[in-house]
Amino acid sequence: MTNTIIECTDVNFRYEHSTVLEDISLKVKEGEFWALIGPNGSGKSTLINIILGLLKADQGTVKLFGQNVDSFKQRERIGYVSQKSNSFNSGFPATVLEVVKSGLTRKIGLFKAFSKQDEQKALDALRIVKMEDFAGQNIGELSGGQQQRVFIARALVGEPDLLIMDEPTVGIDQKNVASFYSMLNELNREHGIAILLVTHEIDLVTELATHVACLNRSIHFHGVQSDYKKMNDADISLWYGHPVRRVHQEQKGV
Ligand code: ADP
Repeated sequence: MTNTIIECTDVNFRYEHSTVLEDISLKVKEGEFWALIGPNGSGKSTLINIILGLLKADQGTVKLFGQNVDSFKQRERIGYVSQKSNSFNSGFPATVLEVVKSGLTRKIGLFKAFSKQDEQKALDALRIVKMEDFAGQNIGELSGGQQQRVFIARALVGEPDLLIMDEPTVGIDQKNVASFYSMLNELNREHGIAILLVTHEIDLVTELATHVACLNRSIHFHGVQSDYKKMNDADISLWYGHPVRRVHQEQKGV
């Protein structure tokens, strides 16, 4: 039986006067790669914050690995990368390896020294994201896309079962976005890590994800990628709130 990693049931949330999430139910299982898509302001980040336990739902329940989010203690099982991660300026005094190792502090304790084994884990994580050659370099000297790969390595170093990313391609050069996504695909397929990726893109990432959830206050569609692809653009435009047109792989000549 495949284990459920995230289970949201009838989640509702409002900020003061406006309802942002309405009756959200969603299940992410082991090995799945979910794209959570929706326009700006549709509640994606709010839902992620509720899943991470940073905000509390007004109604409904959230379970992580079968446990209620309020009492969930195994935080190291979840790696999180936000859109704001890749913004170190060039003078920031930390190497790539140090940044990746800092992802272990939750596991080993804040004031403990890193062991040789920790260093090896950090190098292994950098290898997965193809950044091992940059280990000794200053983080601030890297491009946005390279920094984002380092932050994924930082999220991976504790060997999580689930990686949650909120708009990870913001700030990445458009020509590097495809290779960034194919790295995520590899993480999912070859390393078996479940992924929940938040994006306002309706195209590229859904070519890679195994499952898609369409959010705009409520969930308008959730299911396997092939069923998402069968939806026509007019239906997507309806829930998205303005006309959209997906560019399919064949049209792009990929
Ligand atoms: P998305 O991630 O899809 O862009 P958000 O979850 O950030 O959407 O925001 C959903 C809605 O909630 C938006 O209308 C936004 O303006 C509003 N919102 C977000 N954060 C707050 C907050 N701290 N207080 C009040 N309203 C908020």
